[in-house]
Amino acid sequence: MTLLDRARTGITDEIRYISDKEGIDAEVIRSLLCKGEIVILQNNSKRAEPVGVGRMLSTKVNVNVGTSTSSSSLEEEVEKARVGVESGADTVMDLSTGGDLDLIRQSILRAVKTPVGTVPIYQAACKHTSIADISSDEMFNALRKHCKDGVDFVTVHAGVNRKSLEALRSSNRMLGVVSRGGAITAAWMLQNDSENPFYSEFDYLLEILSEYDVVASLGDGMRPGCIDDSSDRPEFTELITIGELVERCRRAGVQSMVEGPGHVPLDEIETSVKAMKYLSNGAPVYLLGPLVTDLAPGYDHFTAAIGGAIAGIHGADFLCVTTPSEHLALPNREDIRNGVIVTRIAAHAIDLVKEGQRERARRMDREIAKARRDLNWQRQLELAIDPEHARRIHSRSKESDVCSICGDLCAIKTMNETDSL
Ligand code: SF4
Repeated sequence: MTLLDRARTGITDEIRYISDKEGIDAEVIRSLLCKGEIVILQNNSKRAEPVGVGRMLSTKVNVNVGTSTSSSSLEEEVEKARVGVESGADTVMDLSTGGDLDLIRQSILRAVKTPVGTVPIYQAACKHTSIADISSDEMFNALRKHCKDGVDFVTVHAGVNRKSLEALRSSNRMLGVVSRGGAITAAWMLQNDSENPFYSEFDYLLEILSEYDVVASLGDGMRPGCIDDSSDRPEFTELITIGELVERCRRAGVQSMVEGPGHVPLDEIETSVKAMKYLSNGAPVYLLGPLVTDLAPGYDHFTAAIGGAIAGIHGADFLCVTTPSEHLALPNREDIRNGVIVTRIAAHAIDLVKEGQRERARRMDREIAKARRDLNWQRQLELAIDPEHARRIHSRSKESDVCSICGDLCAIKTMNETDSL
């Protein structure tokens, strides 16, 4: 039985664990999990510590690592996974497409205790020089292999079907398909003049996920790749299909979440997230951004964090890290670290206003404010999201009690010394 099946009959150990960790009543979690509004990421091999994503739960952060066809160091990717987790990522996705994919995935699974996700179609595609030559068996075999190895969630672009492809062909998108998995699927369908096997044989896909209790992350293959393409027909056509697939997952006892865009201007984020929630009947929303402008290569961790924070106000539950090297190069360790920290700031800003998390998050802010009021630098630095960085900057202040911004005219010190107030 899957966790979802077991939760339908009562509170499970996994639910109790998440309840203790998040400070939310176990019965509330059970009920939201049964409705599909919360997922708990943990393969039934129980390799990972379970992580809950969804309504009432703290906003989670995923970091992507993985080799490419131009850069494929196993050691570096494993190290990047470790750095990502040490910097505070809740989950890791291995998106490798270069080198020994089985070895890299298994090494990452061993290196971290967090849930790990993958995109199995990459492995099927890497075997061939022509996408058309991938067989549907190879797609399902890759999926099974990843589940068997112990991954906890997989991105499947099952919503890329003939309908969404037709919507794409009749659109005049600037950037076409920018999702790697979406592009592989779309190219395979066009070159073979066939329906997407992950869509046409979705029941078989569910059987595999159910066997290993792996969460389906329904990928947005038609996500917009630039501001001009946001919120268009291909994206929403795919989203309607994804909403139907979420219902099929629930009926099969498979947990699912919905992936979302991409590049979205500020005034479309609310509509975008609410449509995802509405069409999926409240499934957890996992966002790849959204980046709020195309104009900042080198700073896309910020453009994504701005979009992620606004998306969170409207219901996004899970943010995928965008690093400073987005659109430019494979991220290095430093990019991973910076991307995770900036995304965690967005996630915490969301939690400050999120139902179920507001009090816990506000307590954290209150603690650091108290330390700031008391000019207790040690405590203030300890409580910072990135203590190491904060400590490095503060060490430039030579003063012992105040900092070098105001020096002797420190406003806090002045008021603390003014007894009459
Ligand atoms: S010196 Fe200025 S900036 Fe620094 S702690 Fe005091 S009031 Fe704040």
